[in-house]
Amino acid sequence: MENDKNILQDTHGRDHTYLRISLIERCNLRCSYCMPEEGVQLSPKSHLMTYEEIYDIAKTFVKHGVTKIRLTGGEPLIRKDIPVILEKLATLPVELSITSNAVIIDKFIDVLKVNGVKNINVSLDSLDEEKFKHITRRNEFKKVYNNILLLVKEGFNVKVNAVLMKDFNDNEIIDFINFTKDLPISVRFIEFMPFDGNKWDISKMVSYKEVMKYVNASFSEKEIERLQDAPNDTSKNYKIKGYKGSFAIISSVTNPFCDSCNRLRLTANGQLKNCLFSSGESDLLTTLRAGKPIEPIIQKAVQAKLKIRGGMNTLEKLQEPKLHNNNRSMITIGG
Ligand code: SAM
Repeated sequence: MENDKNILQDTHGRDHTYLRISLIERCNLRCSYCMPEEGVQLSPKSHLMTYEEIYDIAKTFVKHGVTKIRLTGGEPLIRKDIPVILEKLATLPVELSITSNAVIIDKFIDVLKVNGVKNINVSLDSLDEEKFKHITRRNEFKKVYNNILLLVKEGFNVKVNAVLMKDFNDNEIIDFINFTKDLPISVRFIEFMPFDGNKWDISKMVSYKEVMKYVNASFSEKEIERLQDAPNDTSKNYKIKGYKGSFAIISSVTNPFCDSCNRLRLTANGQLKNCLFSSGESDLLTTLRAGKPIEPIIQKAVQAKLKIRGGMNTLEKLQEPKLHNNNRSMITIGG
């Protein structure tokens, strides 16, 4: 295949310019859709990437055309050396961003600013304190809510991610949209996705179409504005006229955006995943520790990337537990 050697292009012509790095498998919340009730088998500490290894691997990806790095987890901010990781990665020519549950983000405002992090995605699945406690199994609603306000005040670009689940928080869709009335944030409704141990069932998912039904029932056609989606955007973006913020739907299940996928994922234990839905992994860390080049493994993983959702190219296949249950829990992928 004709290919600029520096670019990570797969056999479907997609260039991979975006790397998501999971820094840690642990989290300070216990969201039921993200991790199994009994927890996940954690990697021994020695199997996790050190900050030097994260930097070395990231540098290799940047050499091959990656321009955007997002840090995730687990909860990336509970990693003790997060300031050093940010400092090291900030020396690379990339747009650096982070996904966090924001429970402790108020302690990191300066570190994030100094290292040029502008875009912060915060997970918040309910605006109701009791429901938040139920889904996250922790009593941290007020901190998260206040920290979202703080991030906005401090000038960050904030996106709020809400995973929708039927009969749990679908009745809050309009409350979430009204949350964007006076706040310049983007609320993104995410279709609930299947992973190992999260008791997924398609009947619990709230689809893009269903979200729009709620929206159309509450706002007139004139009030709902369809916004231009950015290239490689995973979301369909909308705005209510006159509102400061916007909202979007991430329809990974009913309307996947695989055609424009530019993402690769690195797990905290140094495994490269070429697709969120694929159970296949390529071990970069062992090779790096052996002092061997990781480029051939990266190229091979990119070449092996399947066209749609790790091979689950129909909704029927996605619903087969034997296909989606081989994949890690989201807490150890990072979203
Ligand atoms: N701790 C950070 C946080 O809470 O944002 C980062 C890690 S978390 C795994 C990243 C994202 O994955 C969150 O926005 C979360 O809502 C999303 N996520 C986890 N499990 C999911 C699922 N089953 N379906 C859809 N999104 C999911």
